[in-house]
Amino acid sequence: MNSLLSRRYTEKVRIIVHGGAGNIPKNNTGLYSVGVKKAAEVGLDVLVSGGSALDAVETAVVYMENDPIFDAGKGSVLNKDGFVEMDAIIVDGADLGMGSIAGVRRVRNPVKLARIIMEKTDNNMFIGNSADNLAKQFGLRLESLSYFVTDRRREEWEDMKEGKLDPMRRSMYSTVGAVALDSKGNVVAATSTGGIPFKMPGRVGDTPLIGCGAYADNELGAASATGLGETIMKIVLSKTALGYIKLEGDPMRAAVRAIKLMESKVGGRAGLIIIDPKGNVGIAYNAPKMAFAFNEGNKIVYGTEIP
Ligand code: ASP
Repeated sequence: MNSLLSRRYTEKVRIIVHGGAGNIPKNNTGLYSVGVKKAAEVGLDVLVSGGSALDAVETAVVYMENDPIFDAGKGSVLNKDGFVEMDAIIVDGADLGMGSIAGVRRVRNPVKLARIIMEKTDNNMFIGNSADNLAKQFGLRLESLSYFVTDRRREEWEDMKEGKLDPMRRSMYSTVGAVALDSKGNVVAATSTGGIPFKMPGRVGDTPLIGCGAYADNELGAASATGLGETIMKIVLSKTALGYIKLEGDPMRAAVRAIKLMESKVGGRAGLIIIDPKGNVGIAYNAPKMAFAFNEGNKIVYGTEIP
């Protein structure tokens, strides 16, 4: 990429979102594509009206948490006991501010709670009931346990329980994430998930771990990961990928290199979206598919496979 093009990119705002990497069932591909496209659109609206990357990323992730097709918020996968346990993180590249939560069961929009933790507490991470209680204290909307459980997830869970569906082989990852660059040059990343299907109660994946599920630093860029948390966290995938941008000279190659590193060292299937400080886009995955969308100017490019 030449410097002229890079300079042009600095005048732009950018948002990239993902809706998980895995075996997206054929009959649902369209739903995932539409979901990520809409999420990118609402995030882009925030950016073009002069809003911050923080607001853009939160808006896009909230959209997907409320869309039951995705494994985040309503529609999250169920654990072995048939409950939803959600994890989320937000990282602000301006000051390395972060907030994250693990194992929440009642907060409607986990990414909002992550942001409140970042902005209104002196701590970085909360877990379980205490995190749900914190959400209540800050006036966030809580839901009943049944709000999060969709018929589709219940049916999948029953099939897994009866041994008709292998949770690992099927790999229905549809975690959500977003990264954005705003007009002030700030980058932000966020990721939100119900985790992996039929997980052990209490199991926590990569998503809420800084540098693993997401990372942002105005000097490096921003990244959000999805896929098998057990392998993603061993490689600290998001931070590792951002570290490769300078070496590779391009976020696309950096994302590919990070995924390859994970695959060769610890195996696993994952996907990454990356933005560099100039707004250049990096997308890579070693799963069969990944739902993604990003803006090219005012146009949204989207799909479940890189063209
Ligand atoms: N990374 C998430 C986890 O392991 C799952 C996903 O991205 O789909 O909890």
